[in-house]
Amino acid sequence: MEYDDIIVGAGSAGAVLAARLSEDPNRAVLLLEAGPDYSAVERTPADLLNTWVSAGPHDWGLIAQATPTREIPYPRGKVTGGSSAVNGHIALRGTPDDFDEWAAWGNREWSFEKVLPFHRKLEDDRDARGDFHGVGGPIWIERPRPENWQPLNRAFFDAARAAGYAEVSDHNDPQSTGIGPWPRNRRDGVRISTAIGYLAPARHRMNLTIRSGVNVHRVTIENGRAVGVEIESSGTLQRVPGRRVTLSAGAIHSPALLMRSGIGPRDELAALGIKCQMNSPGVGRNLIDHPMVFVVATPVAGIPHDPQVTNPIGIRYTAAGSDEFNDMQMYVFELFDESVAPGLALGLTVPSVAVVPGLQRPRSRGRLTLRSANPDVPPIIDLNYLGDPEDLRRMADGVRIAWRLMHEGPFAPMLKEFVNLSAEVVNSDSALETFVRENCTTIFHPVGTAKMGPENDPVAVVDQYCRVRGVEGLRVVDASIMPNIVRANTNLTCIMIGERVADWMRTSD
Ligand SMILES: Cc1cc2nc3c(=O)[nH]c(=O)nc-3n(C[C@H](O)[C@H](O)[C@H](O)COP(=O)(O)OP(=O)(O)OC[C@H]3O[C@@H](n4cnc5c(N)ncnc54)[C@H](O)[C@@H]3O)c2cc1C
Repeated sequence: MEYDDIIVGAGSAGAVLAARLSEDPNRAVLLLEAGPDYSAVERTPADLLNTWVSAGPHDWGLIAQATPTREIPYPRGKVTGGSSAVNGHIALRGTPDDFDEWAAWGNREWSFEKVLPFHRKLEDDRDARGDFHGVGGPIWIERPRPENWQPLNRAFFDAARAAGYAEVSDHNDPQSTGIGPWPRNRRDGVRISTAIGYLAPARHRMNLTIRSGVNVHRVTIENGRAVGVEIESSGTLQRVPGRRVTLSAGAIHSPALLMRSGIGPRDELAALGIKCQMNSPGVGRNLIDHPMVFVVATPVAGIPHDPQVTNPIGIRYTAAGSDEFNDMQMYVFELFDESVAPGLALGLTVPSVAVVPGLQRPRSRGRLTLRSANPDVPPIIDLNYLGDPEDLRRMADGVRIAWRLMHEGPFAPMLKEFVNLSAEVVNSDSALETFVRENCTTIFHPVGTAKMGPENDPVAVVDQYCRVRGVEGLRVVDASIMPNIVRANTNLTCIMIGERVADWMRTSD
Protein backbone atom coordinates (compact mmCIF):
# COMPACT_ATOMS: atom_id res chain seq x y z
CA MET A 1 0.00 0.00 0.00
CA GLU A 2 1.23 3.52 -0.77
CA TYR A 3 0.47 6.02 1.99
CA ASP A 4 -0.30 9.64 1.22
CA ASP A 5 1.82 10.74 4.15
CA ILE A 6 4.52 8.92 6.07
CA ILE A 7 5.54 10.72 9.24
CA VAL A 8 8.72 9.60 10.99
CA GLY A 9 8.60 10.19 14.76
CA ALA A 10 5.50 10.55 16.93
CA GLY A 11 6.80 13.34 19.18
CA SER A 12 5.74 16.90 19.87
CA ALA A 13 5.48 17.82 16.21
CA GLY A 14 4.96 14.42 14.52
CA ALA A 15 1.94 13.40 16.59
CA VAL A 16 0.32 16.76 15.88
CA LEU A 17 0.91 16.41 12.14
CA ALA A 18 -0.49 12.87 12.07
CA ALA A 19 -3.57 13.88 14.04
CA ARG A 20 -4.28 16.96 11.92
CA LEU A 21 -3.56 15.38 8.52
CA SER A 22 -5.75 12.36 9.28
CA GLU A 23 -8.73 14.64 9.94
CA ASP A 24 -9.18 14.33 6.17
CA PRO A 25 -10.69 10.82 5.77
CA ASN A 26 -9.40 10.60 2.20
CA ARG A 27 -5.76 10.81 3.27
CA ALA A 28 -3.94 7.64 4.36
CA VAL A 29 -1.43 8.58 7.08
CA LEU A 30 1.28 6.32 8.49
CA LEU A 31 2.97 7.43 11.72
CA LEU A 32 6.19 5.52 12.52
CA GLU A 33 7.73 5.58 15.99
CA ALA A 34 10.88 3.85 17.20
CA GLY A 35 9.67 3.59 20.81
CA PRO A 36 6.59 1.89 22.23
CA ASP A 37 3.01 3.11 21.97
CA TYR A 38 0.43 3.14 24.77
CA SER A 39 -3.06 3.37 23.40
CA ALA A 40 -4.77 4.87 26.46
CA VAL A 41 -3.87 6.80 29.59
CA GLU A 42 -4.93 3.80 31.70
CA ARG A 43 -2.33 1.62 29.93
CA THR A 44 0.46 4.23 30.10
CA PRO A 45 3.31 3.59 32.58
CA ALA A 46 3.65 5.95 35.55
CA ASP A 47 6.98 7.47 34.45
CA LEU A 48 5.12 9.04 31.52
CA LEU A 49 2.26 10.38 33.62
CA ASN A 50 2.94 11.58 37.14
CA THR A 51 6.62 12.44 37.18
CA TRP A 52 8.22 15.87 37.19
CA VAL A 53 10.61 14.79 34.43
CA SER A 54 11.86 11.42 33.22
CA ALA A 55 14.73 9.82 31.37
CA GLY A 56 13.95 6.33 32.52
CA PRO A 57 12.73 3.45 30.41
CA HIS A 58 11.61 5.67 27.49
CA ASP A 59 14.91 7.33 26.68
CA TRP A 60 17.33 7.00 23.75
CA GLY A 61 20.33 6.97 26.14
CA LEU A 62 22.37 9.50 24.16
CA ILE A 63 25.58 11.17 25.31
CA ALA A 64 26.61 14.70 24.27
CA GLN A 65 29.79 16.72 24.48
CA ALA A 66 28.78 19.72 26.64
CA THR A 67 32.14 21.50 26.56
CA PRO A 68 35.45 20.32 25.08
CA THR A 69 36.26 18.47 28.31
CA ARG A 70 32.88 17.20 29.55
CA GLU A 71 30.30 14.69 28.35
CA ILE A 72 26.74 14.64 29.68
CA PRO A 73 23.73 12.34 29.33
CA TYR A 74 21.41 13.78 26.71
CA PRO A 75 17.83 12.55 27.19
CA ARG A 76 15.32 12.33 24.32
CA GLY A 77 11.93 10.64 24.58
CA LYS A 78 11.53 7.31 22.76
CA VAL A 79 7.80 6.59 22.84
CA THR A 80 4.67 7.96 21.19
CA GLY A 81 4.54 11.57 22.38
CA GLY A 82 8.33 11.71 22.02
CA SER A 83 10.05 14.13 24.35
CA SER A 84 6.66 15.67 25.22
CA ALA A 85 5.92 12.39 27.03
CA VAL A 86 8.95 12.59 29.35
CA ASN A 87 9.49 16.31 29.73
CA GLY A 88 9.16 18.77 32.58
CA HIS A 89 5.81 20.00 31.14
CA ILE A 90 6.61 23.68 31.39
CA ALA A 91 4.31 25.14 28.73
CA LEU A 92 6.04 28.36 27.82
CA ARG A 93 5.91 30.31 24.58
CA GLY A 94 8.72 32.14 22.87
CA THR A 95 8.44 35.92 22.85
CA PRO A 96 7.19 37.93 19.85
CA ASP A 97 10.82 38.94 19.18
CA ASP A 98 11.79 35.28 18.71
CA PHE A 99 9.32 34.71 15.89
CA ASP A 100 9.79 38.15 14.36
CA GLU A 101 13.50 37.34 14.15
CA TRP A 102 12.70 34.14 12.23
CA ALA A 103 10.61 36.27 9.85
CA ALA A 104 13.33 38.91 9.51
CA TRP A 105 15.77 36.15 8.53
CA GLY A 106 13.68 35.38 5.45
CA ASN A 107 10.86 33.23 6.90
CA ARG A 108 8.03 35.74 6.78
CA GLU A 109 5.33 33.12 7.39
CA TRP A 110 6.67 32.70 10.93
CA SER A 111 6.26 36.19 12.40
CA PHE A 112 4.62 36.35 15.82
CA GLU A 113 1.42 37.59 14.24
CA LYS A 114 1.34 34.60 11.86
CA VAL A 115 2.12 31.95 14.50
CA LEU A 116 -0.21 33.31 17.20
CA PRO A 117 -3.35 31.61 15.79
CA PHE A 118 -1.54 28.25 16.02
CA HIS A 119 -0.39 28.89 19.57
CA ARG A 120 -4.01 29.59 20.41
CA LYS A 121 -5.26 26.55 18.51
CA LEU A 122 -3.06 24.08 20.37
CA GLU A 123 -4.01 25.10 23.89
CA ASP A 124 -6.81 24.93 26.36
CA ASP A 125 -5.56 27.54 28.81
CA ARG A 126 -7.56 27.19 32.01
CA ASP A 127 -6.38 30.43 33.64
CA ALA A 128 -5.41 33.14 31.18
CA ARG A 129 -7.90 34.72 28.81
CA GLY A 130 -7.73 37.37 26.11
CA ASP A 131 -6.34 37.79 22.61
CA PHE A 132 -3.17 35.84 23.28
CA HIS A 133 -4.83 32.70 24.57
CA GLY A 134 -6.85 29.76 23.31
CA VAL A 135 -9.60 27.65 24.81
CA GLY A 136 -10.65 24.11 23.89
CA GLY A 137 -7.43 23.01 22.12
CA PRO A 138 -5.78 19.60 22.69
CA ILE A 139 -3.16 20.74 25.25
CA TRP A 140 -4.55 21.57 28.70
CA ILE A 141 -2.54 24.34 30.38
CA GLU A 142 -2.82 25.42 34.00
CA ARG A 143 -0.65 27.21 36.54
CA PRO A 144 0.18 25.88 40.00
CA ARG A 145 -2.06 27.73 42.48
CA PRO A 146 -0.30 29.74 45.22
CA GLU A 147 -2.07 27.64 47.87
CA ASN A 148 -0.24 24.59 46.47
CA TRP A 149 3.19 26.19 46.50
CA GLN A 150 5.34 24.74 49.24
CA PRO A 151 7.06 26.81 51.97
CA LEU A 152 10.34 26.66 50.00
CA ASN A 153 8.59 28.00 46.89
CA ARG A 154 6.96 30.79 48.86
CA ALA A 155 10.31 31.70 50.40
CA PHE A 156 12.00 31.75 46.97
CA PHE A 157 9.16 33.90 45.67
CA ASP A 158 9.56 36.37 48.56
CA ALA A 159 13.33 36.48 48.08
CA ALA A 160 12.90 37.25 44.38
CA ARG A 161 10.31 39.93 45.07
CA ALA A 162 12.64 41.49 47.67
CA ALA A 163 15.40 41.46 45.04
CA GLY A 164 13.18 43.47 42.71
CA TYR A 165 11.66 40.91 40.32
CA ALA A 166 8.08 41.79 39.39
CA GLU A 167 5.21 39.45 40.19
CA VAL A 168 3.91 37.71 37.06
CA SER A 169 0.55 35.96 36.83
CA ASP A 170 0.96 34.79 33.21
CA HIS A 171 4.45 34.00 31.96
CA ASN A 172 2.94 33.57 28.47
CA ASP A 173 1.87 37.18 28.22
CA PRO A 174 4.35 38.75 25.74
CA GLN A 175 5.18 41.59 28.14
CA SER A 176 5.78 39.44 31.24
CA THR A 177 9.09 39.50 33.01
CA GLY A 178 9.65 38.52 36.64
CA ILE A 179 8.55 35.71 38.96
CA GLY A 180 5.38 33.66 38.85
CA PRO A 181 3.94 30.18 38.33
CA TRP A 182 5.10 28.28 35.25
CA PRO A 183 2.26 27.47 32.88
CA ARG A 184 2.14 23.67 32.70
CA ASN A 185 0.62 21.10 30.38
CA ARG A 186 -0.60 18.96 33.23
CA ARG A 187 -4.12 17.97 34.20
CA ASP A 188 -5.03 16.26 37.48
CA GLY A 189 -1.36 15.52 38.00
CA VAL A 190 -0.93 13.91 34.55
CA ARG A 191 1.50 15.24 31.92
CA ILE A 192 -0.50 16.02 28.76
CA SER A 193 1.85 14.80 26.05
CA THR A 194 0.97 14.97 22.36
CA ALA A 195 0.20 11.23 22.60
CA ILE A 196 -2.54 12.06 25.08
CA GLY A 197 -3.65 15.43 23.72
CA TYR A 198 -3.54 14.68 19.98
CA LEU A 199 -3.17 10.96 19.21
CA ALA A 200 -5.67 9.57 21.74
CA PRO A 201 -8.68 11.31 20.13
CA ALA A 202 -7.46 10.41 16.60
CA ARG A 203 -6.60 6.71 17.05
CA HIS A 204 -9.95 5.33 15.99
CA ARG A 205 -9.57 6.74 12.47
CA MET A 206 -9.25 4.04 9.81
CA ASN A 207 -6.99 6.29 7.73
CA LEU A 208 -4.44 6.72 10.54
CA THR A 209 -1.99 3.87 11.11
CA ILE A 210 0.35 4.17 14.10
CA ARG A 211 3.25 1.69 14.09
CA SER A 212 5.55 1.59 17.10
CA GLY A 213 8.85 -0.21 17.56
CA VAL A 214 9.81 0.80 14.01
CA ASN A 215 13.28 2.23 13.50
CA VAL A 216 13.41 4.25 10.29
CA HIS A 217 16.85 3.87 8.74
CA ARG A 218 16.60 6.29 5.83
CA VAL A 219 14.38 7.95 3.27
CA THR A 220 14.22 6.28 -0.15
CA ILE A 221 14.98 8.84 -2.83
CA GLU A 222 14.51 8.24 -6.55
CA ASN A 223 15.22 10.85 -9.22
CA GLY A 224 15.36 13.62 -6.65
CA ARG A 225 12.06 12.67 -5.02
CA ALA A 226 11.29 10.98 -1.70
CA VAL A 227 9.27 7.86 -2.47
CA GLY A 228 9.13 6.17 0.92
CA VAL A 229 11.25 4.97 3.83
CA GLU A 230 13.45 2.01 4.70
CA ILE A 231 12.61 0.64 8.11
CA GLU A 232 13.57 -2.05 10.55
CA SER A 233 10.79 -3.69 12.53
CA SER A 234 11.47 -6.70 14.79
CA GLY A 235 14.73 -7.37 12.96
CA THR A 236 13.16 -7.27 9.49
CA LEU A 237 14.16 -4.66 6.95
CA GLN A 238 11.37 -3.31 4.74
CA ARG A 239 10.62 -0.53 2.29
CA VAL A 240 7.40 1.40 2.76
CA PRO A 241 6.20 3.54 -0.15
CA GLY A 242 4.67 6.96 0.41
CA ARG A 243 3.64 9.97 -1.66
CA ARG A 244 5.15 12.41 0.87
CA VAL A 245 7.64 11.79 3.67
CA THR A 246 7.99 14.05 6.72
CA LEU A 247 10.80 13.71 9.24
CA SER A 248 9.64 14.63 12.75
CA ALA A 249 12.31 12.64 14.58
CA GLY A 250 13.57 15.65 16.56
CA ALA A 251 16.65 17.86 16.36
CA ILE A 252 19.07 14.96 16.93
CA HIS A 253 17.53 12.20 14.83
CA SER A 254 16.06 14.17 11.91
CA PRO A 255 19.45 15.51 10.72
CA ALA A 256 20.96 12.05 11.25
CA LEU A 257 18.19 10.56 9.09
CA LEU A 258 18.79 13.20 6.41
CA MET A 259 22.49 12.38 6.31
CA ARG A 260 21.90 8.62 6.21
CA SER A 261 19.57 9.32 3.27
CA GLY A 262 22.33 11.17 1.40
CA ILE A 263 21.29 14.73 2.24
CA GLY A 264 24.06 16.61 4.00
CA PRO A 265 27.59 17.99 3.59
CA ARG A 266 28.97 16.17 0.55
CA ASP A 267 32.46 15.53 1.98
CA GLU A 268 31.17 14.15 5.26
CA LEU A 269 28.80 11.80 3.46
CA ALA A 270 31.58 10.63 1.16
CA ALA A 271 33.86 9.92 4.14
CA LEU A 272 31.19 7.59 5.52
CA GLY A 273 30.51 5.91 2.19
CA ILE A 274 27.03 7.43 1.83
CA LYS A 275 25.95 8.29 -1.72
CA CYS A 276 25.19 12.01 -1.87
CA GLN A 277 21.66 12.77 -3.10
CA MET A 278 21.80 16.45 -2.25
CA ASN A 279 24.78 18.47 -1.05
CA SER A 280 23.26 20.36 1.90
CA PRO A 281 26.11 21.82 3.99
CA GLY A 282 23.79 23.03 6.79
CA VAL A 283 22.54 19.62 7.92
CA GLY A 284 23.65 19.14 11.53
CA ARG A 285 25.06 22.66 11.83
CA ASN A 286 23.47 25.39 13.91
CA LEU A 287 22.86 23.05 16.88
CA ILE A 288 21.54 25.28 19.67
CA ASP A 289 20.52 24.34 23.22
CA HIS A 290 19.79 26.11 26.50
CA PRO A 291 22.38 25.33 29.19
CA MET A 292 21.71 25.55 32.92
CA VAL A 293 23.81 25.35 36.11
CA PHE A 294 22.64 23.95 39.44
CA VAL A 295 23.46 25.74 42.68
CA VAL A 296 22.60 23.04 45.17
CA ALA A 297 21.86 23.19 48.90
CA THR A 298 20.38 20.83 51.45
CA PRO A 299 17.25 22.04 53.24
CA VAL A 300 17.18 22.24 57.05
CA ALA A 301 15.44 19.27 58.63
CA GLY A 302 11.71 19.33 59.13
CA ILE A 303 10.64 21.77 56.41
CA PRO A 304 7.27 20.50 55.20
CA HIS A 305 7.27 19.71 51.50
CA ASP A 306 4.93 17.72 49.27
CA PRO A 307 7.43 15.52 47.35
CA GLN A 308 5.27 15.69 44.22
CA VAL A 309 5.76 19.46 43.95
CA THR A 310 8.92 20.35 42.04
CA ASN A 311 9.56 23.56 40.15
CA PRO A 312 6.10 25.23 40.26
CA ILE A 313 7.39 28.80 39.93
CA GLY A 314 10.27 30.57 38.24
CA ILE A 315 11.75 33.78 36.92
CA ARG A 316 12.11 35.11 33.37
CA TYR A 317 14.57 37.99 33.44
CA THR A 318 16.98 40.05 31.35
CA ALA A 319 20.67 39.65 32.23
CA ALA A 320 22.54 42.72 33.43
CA GLY A 321 24.26 44.38 30.49
CA SER A 322 22.12 42.53 27.96
CA ASP A 323 19.80 44.18 25.45
CA GLU A 324 17.88 40.95 24.85
CA PHE A 325 14.60 40.86 26.76
CA ASN A 326 14.13 37.81 29.01
CA ASP A 327 17.34 36.16 27.87
CA MET A 328 17.56 34.22 31.16
CA GLN A 329 15.43 31.96 33.36
CA MET A 330 15.81 31.00 37.02
CA TYR A 331 14.31 27.77 38.34
CA VAL A 332 13.97 26.43 41.85
CA PHE A 333 13.97 22.63 41.94
CA GLU A 334 13.15 20.77 45.14
CA LEU A 335 13.92 17.07 45.10
CA PHE A 336 12.34 15.31 48.07
CA ASP A 337 11.59 12.01 46.33
CA GLU A 338 13.71 10.37 43.61
CA SER A 339 10.66 8.89 41.91
CA VAL A 340 9.64 12.33 40.62
CA ALA A 341 12.63 12.32 38.25
CA PRO A 342 13.25 8.71 37.20
CA GLY A 343 16.55 8.09 35.49
CA LEU A 344 17.68 11.71 35.82
CA ALA A 345 19.91 12.02 38.86
CA LEU A 346 20.82 15.59 37.87
CA GLY A 347 23.51 15.54 40.53
CA LEU A 348 20.91 15.93 43.26
CA THR A 349 20.57 13.75 46.32
CA VAL A 350 17.34 13.60 48.32
CA PRO A 351 16.41 16.01 49.83
CA SER A 352 17.90 18.89 47.80
CA VAL A 353 17.02 22.39 46.80
CA ALA A 354 18.63 23.87 43.69
CA VAL A 355 18.39 27.34 42.29
CA VAL A 356 19.21 27.10 38.61
CA PRO A 357 19.95 29.85 36.10
CA GLY A 358 19.32 28.92 32.48
CA LEU A 359 20.54 30.76 29.38
CA GLN A 360 17.73 31.40 26.88
CA ARG A 361 19.52 33.28 24.09
CA PRO A 362 22.83 31.47 23.68
CA ARG A 363 25.22 32.79 21.06
CA SER A 364 27.26 29.59 20.93
CA ARG A 365 26.50 27.10 18.19
CA GLY A 366 27.22 23.39 18.28
CA ARG A 367 27.21 20.71 15.63
CA LEU A 368 25.80 17.27 15.01
CA THR A 369 27.69 14.83 12.80
CA LEU A 370 27.31 11.18 11.91
CA ARG A 371 29.80 8.79 13.45
CA SER A 372 28.79 6.02 11.08
CA ALA A 373 26.31 5.25 8.32
CA ASN A 374 24.99 2.46 10.56
CA PRO A 375 21.56 3.55 11.92
CA ASP A 376 22.26 1.81 15.24
CA VAL A 377 25.27 4.04 15.96
CA PRO A 378 24.30 7.32 17.65
CA PRO A 379 25.52 10.60 16.13
CA ILE A 380 28.20 12.86 17.63
CA ILE A 381 26.47 15.68 19.51
CA ASP A 382 28.84 18.59 20.12
CA LEU A 383 26.92 21.25 22.07
CA ASN A 384 29.76 23.76 22.44
CA TYR A 385 28.14 25.28 25.55
CA LEU A 386 29.72 28.61 26.56
CA GLY A 387 31.70 28.72 23.33
CA ASP A 388 30.89 32.42 23.20
CA PRO A 389 32.25 34.57 26.08
CA GLU A 390 28.94 36.41 26.41
CA ASP A 391 27.23 33.10 27.24
CA LEU A 392 29.76 32.43 29.97
CA ARG A 393 29.38 35.96 31.33
CA ARG A 394 25.57 35.75 31.60
CA MET A 395 25.70 32.30 33.18
CA ALA A 396 28.29 33.37 35.74
CA ASP A 397 26.12 36.39 36.53
CA GLY A 398 23.13 34.04 36.86
CA VAL A 399 24.99 31.89 39.39
CA ARG A 400 25.75 35.01 41.46
CA ILE A 401 22.06 35.94 41.38
CA ALA A 402 21.10 32.42 42.48
CA TRP A 403 23.62 32.62 45.33
CA ARG A 404 22.21 35.99 46.45
CA LEU A 405 18.60 34.76 46.34
CA MET A 406 19.58 31.75 48.45
CA HIS A 407 20.96 34.16 51.06
CA GLU A 408 17.95 36.48 50.93
CA GLY A 409 15.01 37.00 53.35
CA PRO A 410 13.03 33.95 54.41
CA PHE A 411 14.80 31.62 51.95
CA ALA A 412 18.21 31.68 53.69
CA PRO A 413 17.13 30.11 57.02
CA MET A 414 15.55 27.18 55.14
CA LEU A 415 18.86 26.10 53.61
CA LYS A 416 21.32 24.15 55.73
CA GLU A 417 24.45 24.00 53.61
CA PHE A 418 25.65 24.51 50.08
CA VAL A 419 26.68 21.33 48.30
CA ASN A 420 28.65 22.50 45.25
CA LEU A 421 29.38 26.23 45.67
CA SER A 422 31.18 28.44 48.20
CA ALA A 423 31.54 32.20 48.82
CA GLU A 424 35.18 31.89 47.80
CA VAL A 425 34.19 30.67 44.32
CA VAL A 426 31.39 33.22 43.98
CA ASN A 427 33.80 36.04 44.78
CA SER A 428 36.42 35.04 42.23
CA ASP A 429 35.69 35.67 38.54
CA SER A 430 38.00 32.95 37.30
CA ALA A 431 36.89 30.35 39.88
CA LEU A 432 33.26 31.11 39.07
CA GLU A 433 33.84 30.68 35.34
CA THR A 434 35.48 27.32 36.03
CA PHE A 435 32.45 26.37 38.18
CA VAL A 436 30.09 27.25 35.34
CA ARG A 437 32.14 25.27 32.81
CA GLU A 438 32.30 22.26 35.11
CA ASN A 439 28.64 22.29 36.08
CA CYS A 440 26.71 23.38 32.99
CA THR A 441 24.22 20.86 31.74
CA THR A 442 21.24 20.74 29.42
CA ILE A 443 17.71 22.06 29.80
CA PHE A 444 16.99 19.43 27.09
CA HIS A 445 16.15 21.83 24.24
CA PRO A 446 18.23 21.03 21.11
CA VAL A 447 17.01 22.85 17.99
CA GLY A 448 18.23 24.23 14.69
CA THR A 449 19.99 21.30 12.98
CA ALA A 450 17.93 21.48 9.77
CA LYS A 451 17.41 25.19 9.77
CA MET A 452 14.78 26.90 7.64
CA GLY A 453 15.79 29.88 5.59
CA PRO A 454 15.69 31.59 2.24
CA GLU A 455 17.48 30.37 -0.87
CA ASN A 456 20.45 32.68 -0.36
CA ASP A 457 21.18 31.20 3.08
CA PRO A 458 23.94 28.63 2.41
CA VAL A 459 23.17 26.61 5.56
CA ALA A 460 19.37 26.58 5.26
CA VAL A 461 18.18 22.99 4.88
CA VAL A 462 14.45 23.59 4.45
CA ASP A 463 12.43 26.48 3.05
CA GLN A 464 9.94 28.29 5.23
CA TYR A 465 7.26 25.70 4.40
CA CYS A 466 9.65 23.09 5.80
CA ARG A 467 10.31 21.47 2.42
CA VAL A 468 13.81 20.04 2.12
CA ARG A 469 15.71 22.01 -0.48
CA GLY A 470 16.65 19.93 -3.51
CA VAL A 471 14.46 16.89 -2.78
CA GLU A 472 10.78 16.76 -3.76
CA GLY A 473 8.16 15.30 -1.43
CA LEU A 474 10.31 15.53 1.70
CA ARG A 475 9.87 17.77 4.74
CA VAL A 476 11.38 18.22 8.17
CA VAL A 477 8.83 19.34 10.76
CA ASP A 478 10.14 19.47 14.33
CA ALA A 479 12.62 21.35 16.55
CA SER A 480 15.32 21.01 13.86
CA ILE A 481 13.86 23.72 11.65
CA MET A 482 14.12 26.60 14.14
CA PRO A 483 16.64 29.11 12.74
CA ASN A 484 17.28 30.37 16.26
CA ILE A 485 16.17 28.96 19.57
CA VAL A 486 13.15 30.54 21.26
CA ARG A 487 13.74 32.06 24.70
CA ALA A 488 11.44 29.50 26.27
CA ASN A 489 11.25 25.78 26.87
CA THR A 490 10.76 24.36 23.41
CA ASN A 491 7.82 21.94 23.59
CA LEU A 492 5.01 24.40 22.84
CA THR A 493 6.97 25.82 19.90
CA CYS A 494 7.38 22.30 18.46
CA ILE A 495 3.65 21.64 18.83
CA MET A 496 2.94 24.99 17.20
CA ILE A 497 5.29 24.03 14.32
CA GLY A 498 3.28 20.82 13.85
CA GLU A 499 0.02 22.78 13.76
CA ARG A 500 1.44 25.45 11.46
CA VAL A 501 2.79 23.04 8.85
CA ALA A 502 -0.21 20.68 9.01
CA ASP A 503 -2.34 23.60 7.92
CA TRP A 504 -0.22 23.97 4.77
CA MET A 505 0.09 20.23 4.11
CA ARG A 506 -3.68 19.76 4.20
CA THR A 507 -4.14 22.09 1.28
CA SER A 508 -1.00 21.78 -0.85
CA ASP A 509 1.57 19.25 -1.93
C1 LIG B 1 13.90 15.33 29.84
C2 LIG B 1 13.30 16.46 29.03
C3 LIG B 1 12.68 17.52 29.70
C4 LIG B 1 12.14 18.58 28.97
N1 LIG B 1 11.39 19.55 29.61
C5 LIG B 1 10.69 20.45 28.87
C6 LIG B 1 9.75 21.32 29.48
O1 LIG B 1 9.52 21.29 30.70
N2 LIG B 1 9.06 22.19 28.69
C7 LIG B 1 9.29 22.28 27.35
O2 LIG B 1 8.68 23.13 26.69
N3 LIG B 1 10.17 21.46 26.74
C8 LIG B 1 10.84 20.53 27.46
N4 LIG B 1 11.68 19.65 26.84
C9 LIG B 1 11.93 19.83 25.39
C10 LIG B 1 10.75 19.40 24.51
O3 LIG B 1 10.11 18.28 25.04
C11 LIG B 1 11.28 19.14 23.10
O4 LIG B 1 11.84 20.34 22.58
C12 LIG B 1 10.21 18.67 22.13
O5 LIG B 1 9.48 17.60 22.66
C13 LIG B 1 10.87 18.24 20.82
O6 LIG B 1 9.87 17.89 19.92
P1 LIG B 1 10.23 17.21 18.52
O7 LIG B 1 8.94 16.96 17.84
O8 LIG B 1 11.25 18.03 17.85
O9 LIG B 1 10.95 15.83 18.91
P2 LIG B 1 10.52 14.67 19.90
O10 LIG B 1 9.33 15.06 20.70
O11 LIG B 1 11.74 14.27 20.65
O12 LIG B 1 10.04 13.51 18.93
C14 LIG B 1 10.88 12.77 18.10
C15 LIG B 1 10.29 11.36 17.99
O13 LIG B 1 10.92 10.70 16.90
C16 LIG B 1 11.21 9.38 17.28
N5 LIG B 1 12.31 8.91 16.43
C17 LIG B 1 13.58 9.39 16.41
N6 LIG B 1 14.31 8.73 15.49
C18 LIG B 1 13.49 7.82 14.92
C19 LIG B 1 13.67 6.84 13.91
N7 LIG B 1 14.84 6.66 13.28
N8 LIG B 1 12.61 6.05 13.57
C20 LIG B 1 11.42 6.23 14.18
N9 LIG B 1 11.20 7.14 15.16
C21 LIG B 1 12.22 7.93 15.51
C22 LIG B 1 11.58 9.50 18.74
O14 LIG B 1 11.50 8.27 19.42
C23 LIG B 1 10.56 10.52 19.23
O15 LIG B 1 9.35 9.92 19.64
C24 LIG B 1 12.24 18.59 27.54
C25 LIG B 1 12.85 17.52 26.88
C26 LIG B 1 13.37 16.46 27.61
C27 LIG B 1 14.02 15.30 26.88
